[in-house]
Amino acid sequence: MKEEGGDEILKLSPSQSKICNLKSKVSMGMKILFLDQTGKLGGAELSLLEIARQYRETSLVGLFEDGLFRQALEQQQVPVNVLANRSIQVRKDSGLWQSLGSLGQLLPLVYRVAQLSRSYDLIYTNTQKALVVGALASAISRCPMVYHLRDILSVEHFSRTNRGLAISLANRFAVRVIANSEATRAAFIEAGGRADLVQVIYNGFELSLYDTPDPAPEITRRQLELNDRFVVGHFSRLSPWKGQHILIEALAHCPDNVVAILVGDALFGEQDYVKQLHQQVKALGLSDRVQFLGFRKEVISLIAACDLVAHTSTAPEPFGRVIVEAMLCGTPVVAADAGGAVELVSPGKTGWLTPPGDVLKLASVIQDCQKMPEKAAAIAHQAQIDARERFDTMQIQQQIQACLQKIR
Ligand code: UDP
Repeated sequence: MKEEGGDEILKLSPSQSKICNLKSKVSMGMKILFLDQTGKLGGAELSLLEIARQYRETSLVGLFEDGLFRQALEQQQVPVNVLANRSIQVRKDSGLWQSLGSLGQLLPLVYRVAQLSRSYDLIYTNTQKALVVGALASAISRCPMVYHLRDILSVEHFSRTNRGLAISLANRFAVRVIANSEATRAAFIEAGGRADLVQVIYNGFELSLYDTPDPAPEITRRQLELNDRFVVGHFSRLSPWKGQHILIEALAHCPDNVVAILVGDALFGEQDYVKQLHQQVKALGLSDRVQFLGFRKEVISLIAACDLVAHTSTAPEPFGRVIVEAMLCGTPVVAADAGGAVELVSPGKTGWLTPPGDVLKLASVIQDCQKMPEKAAAIAHQAQIDARERFDTMQIQQQIQACLQKIR
């Protein structure tokens, strides 16, 4: 398992550097103050990295916490500043009193962001806490604010207080809300968000990075001693709602030559869940069939080395980057039938969908893919074509640029 701050994250491949240089030339010179609450590298941050790269000549990313995300931004020459000296102590499920208790910490940050934003055309908030700070700062400085909504604002994910706060601030202060899927858009509106504010723009992916995975899949398989076993990959932070336990249980219903690699780490303190997963593996006698690989920077080569990627979230996924990543790699993918995943996968054409939490259905798809490799490969090939058409970062950047230009 890599330590936070390990060197591995800092290396840019030659192709990534080339892309970085090319992209900076396409930037339109808009001055944007991006805000994100975390220093960790989750899906929201990886997606923001892709966007911020385009504006790196003129913009700044403000973080409320230091970490790998700051290093990744610096590595791609995106100006970044850690604006707070300790992370904000409010969680998605925090109630009113906990949220109010954090005001003392928030206010100096709001003031700092308000001051900073006077030198920018736009405040671009990427997470919930960033929205709170960005909205209040925007009210002070009159700098317009955009909210990139990457969460399904439902009771499964958020306390009533936090949901209400997000909706009120977005309705009152955002000039635009960019939703990362139709599912996040619908949940926003259902929770009281203004429909006229929201536009759906999917995550973009740099297609060339998927052309030749490095190292090649067979090398990765050899390194991990996977040999000719049927490998199911799971790529996500370790968290109960990401459902790694569902895949482990499904594995127990599959033949012995089906194995799993779990790629990702507990990013937000879910250590009890990690312990549970290890216990589950042991209790089911799967110790030689499940590998925990920890957080990896190099997911593309690992995804390409899998026979199937499983996405097993038990609550609706806002977007599901890993599903698109598997499609781009040409690796068959089975996803939980809810939220944004439904917009990414056409069942039977570009992948499989199984009901969230349904262990037996998942086990059955895994075995079908194992028994019918030609069919699985044909579906994965179609998925690759589809994903290349729909999620090309250049196209997505143009949509974002067009959206932001209208605000100026
Ligand atoms: N990921 C990664 N290293 C890991 C595990 C996951 O880089 O060890 C990436 C994964 O490839 C995907 C992102 O983290 O791009 C997770 O995004 P997703 O939308 O699947 O979930 P989120 O973290 O936003 O809930």
